[in-house]
Amino acid sequence: MQTEAVIIDDISDKKSQNALKKAGQTIRNGGLVVFPTETVYGLGADATSVQAAEKIYKAKGRPSDNPLIIHIHEPALAEKYTYTTPMFYKIADAFMPGPITVIMKAKDIIPKTVTAGLDTVAVRCPLHPVARELIKKAGVPIAAPSANLSGSPSPTCFKYAYADMNERVDMIIDGGDCDIGLESTIVKIEEDESLTLLRPGAVTVEDLNMLCDDIKISDAVLSALKEGQTVLSPGMKYKHYAPKTPFSLLKGSLEKRFEYISSQNGRVAVICYDEEVSSFERIIPTELIFNFGKKDDLQKQAKLLFTLLRDVDKTEADAVFAALPDASGIGMALYNRMIRAAGHRIITLN
Ligand code: AMP
Ligand code: MG
Repeated sequence: MQTEAVIIDDISDKKSQNALKKAGQTIRNGGLVVFPTETVYGLGADATSVQAAEKIYKAKGRPSDNPLIIHIHEPALAEKYTYTTPMFYKIADAFMPGPITVIMKAKDIIPKTVTAGLDTVAVRCPLHPVARELIKKAGVPIAAPSANLSGSPSPTCFKYAYADMNERVDMIIDGGDCDIGLESTIVKIEEDESLTLLRPGAVTVEDLNMLCDDIKISDAVLSALKEGQTVLSPGMKYKHYAPKTPFSLLKGSLEKRFEYISSQNGRVAVICYDEEVSSFERIIPTELIFNFGKKDDLQKQAKLLFTLLRDVDKTEADAVFAALPDASGIGMALYNRMIRAAGHRIITLN
């Protein structure tokens, strides 16, 4: 399949408007369009069409039991596709448009291919102007998982979306780097209007606590699933975000991590904080040191993580190490993605 790549900097100029019109038409005609959002790049298709949704699973190599998020450009449109509740509007008023996905009971208009057979559907209203304009122009809700091949880190810049999706989709829109860099927070609204956090993201548990003091955190968020344990969000059971380079997390002080990494054989890479670069430069060549921002700048680390994991793979290092982050605030999202990228390999250094 031939893929057309277009750059959109400013949605209001004529060239961009024409490109967005074409992209919207492509979606409406059952095609696939990769587009930027504030979280990660998405791989979009008409969420009301079985055939279009099937194309998404095929292009990504995604297992068919892992449901898709549908994207709308106004929260009120959720009425058309789901049975909304007062809690949905509380969340929408506080955080939409923005990096949050809400799971509610689906209406029949959404095909089972999109929900992977579940009776619920995940709804998100993105903030990115290109994403919103594309949904508006398409005139249909857009089903969109992250635009990576299944199992790889989500693309947070055009370069990596293109690397995975060229020749698999009709169009790819280059909208620059994603601001947040981690996928949306996913919450499920339960029958009693309490919330269950299925995936942490930039909207934090602390943020959600302002609306609801009854928030359960799904087991798969902060630990590995046990053999045979069922999971509320099917995507949580798959290996995710993993670089090809064996990745381990080290729990311990800089001194302990430094000692541990010094004792390793082979070509070793490290993802470390700005404050630590000069220490690691004593034992690791510069091209194998990946700068993760300042230790307390979790926002920057979130934005860099997936791109760094892909950059590491290009060095063909034998192993890569990073410090285990704290799991509070947006740190919970970082922690969740990093333990999964590391296949839960956490080494405690005493
Ligand atoms: P991605 O599209 O790659 O960001 O992944 C979407 C995530 O949303 C996956 O982890 C899915 O399992 C999850 N998801 C989508 N729809 C539902 C649903 N109806 N119930 C639970 N989880 C869902
Ligand atoms: Mg994904």
